[in-house]
Amino acid sequence: MEAARIIQPNESLQIQHLETPKPKGSQVLVKVNSSGVCHSDIHLWQGGYEGPNGQFLKTTDRGVKYPLTPGHEIAGTIESMGDEAEGFSKNQKVIVFPWIGEGLCPACRIGQENLCDKPRSLGIYTDGGYAEYVLIPSYKYLVKLDEDMDADASATLSCSALTAYGAVRNAVLNPYDNLVVVGAGGLGLMAIQLAKSITGAKIIAMDLDDNKLDVAKKNGADNTINSKKEDPIKAVMELTDKMGADAIIDFVNASKTVETDMQLLRRRGKLVLVGLFGGELKLSLVSMPTRAYKIIGSYTGSISEMVELVSLAKRGVIKPVVSGKFKLNQATEALTMLKDGKIIGRGVINP
Ligand SMILES: [Zn+2]
Ligand SMILES: [Zn+2]
Repeated sequence: MEAARIIQPNESLQIQHLETPKPKGSQVLVKVNSSGVCHSDIHLWQGGYEGPNGQFLKTTDRGVKYPLTPGHEIAGTIESMGDEAEGFSKNQKVIVFPWIGEGLCPACRIGQENLCDKPRSLGIYTDGGYAEYVLIPSYKYLVKLDEDMDADASATLSCSALTAYGAVRNAVLNPYDNLVVVGAGGLGLMAIQLAKSITGAKIIAMDLDDNKLDVAKKNGADNTINSKKEDPIKAVMELTDKMGADAIIDFVNASKTVETDMQLLRRRGKLVLVGLFGGELKLSLVSMPTRAYKIIGSYTGSISEMVELVSLAKRGVIKPVVSGKFKLNQATEALTMLKDGKIIGRGVINP
């Protein structure tokens, strides 16, 4: 089979001819139809990302090994199964849960493999979906798709949409809550669509771009704030009877946005940090207990959340936007375009 692989960080991906894996035991071989191109693939390609104080955090220090076939947003069909795999048959359309753990740590034990102490995520620690076929360690990580569901759009459910859904779940919204969504890009939009359909919260979208805010409004935001043009603190207080936000989901998560978030929170308010922009935060420590704030980091989601998300997608609650389609030999081009901000919504590779 052919695979587009990172041989060395920062070099163009190479097409390599690899032996097609043969599934054993509970393993399943999936024929890849679509593999989403995610921002974290850029980190793998660049060999790391910027951490605190501008320090470069290397992927190899986190256990990533090259050469690597990236790709963790995978939709395809069942090609073959080991003799202990069950519940699926050849050509069944599926998406893959990529956030695989080692199965033994306390997180894995309670079904939160996405937070495993020794992660084995597909396309990050093991070969992923930028290939004609991908070997899945167990049939348990597959979720069936309906025949009429678009594979390209469905692929994004396992990372970007799951991250948005996990964040909305972490915000634990009650009816009548005011939710502020910071950043109305791809993830922010999906969070707005999801929060609108599964909670009773009033949704305030915040961004610097009027076009994105218009789209946010069409997708369920009750109010929008352009924080470049108006004072976000004043605007949120006006929209919440001077109480502030019950919950904030920050898809940017930079020093500047989080400093503002802290001033928007109502007593008992929850701040869910999702974005990977990075930076630091100074906290007023006495306010934390007296105002009973909660600051929560949210990373992808569990397989049970992905199952819920697939059922929401079947009902049309979320509509991921796929705007760029690439062949395997265009993987470098896809990553470059994403890095340069030239892909609106999601790009996918169709091997
Ligand atoms: Zn991703
Ligand atoms: Zn684990």
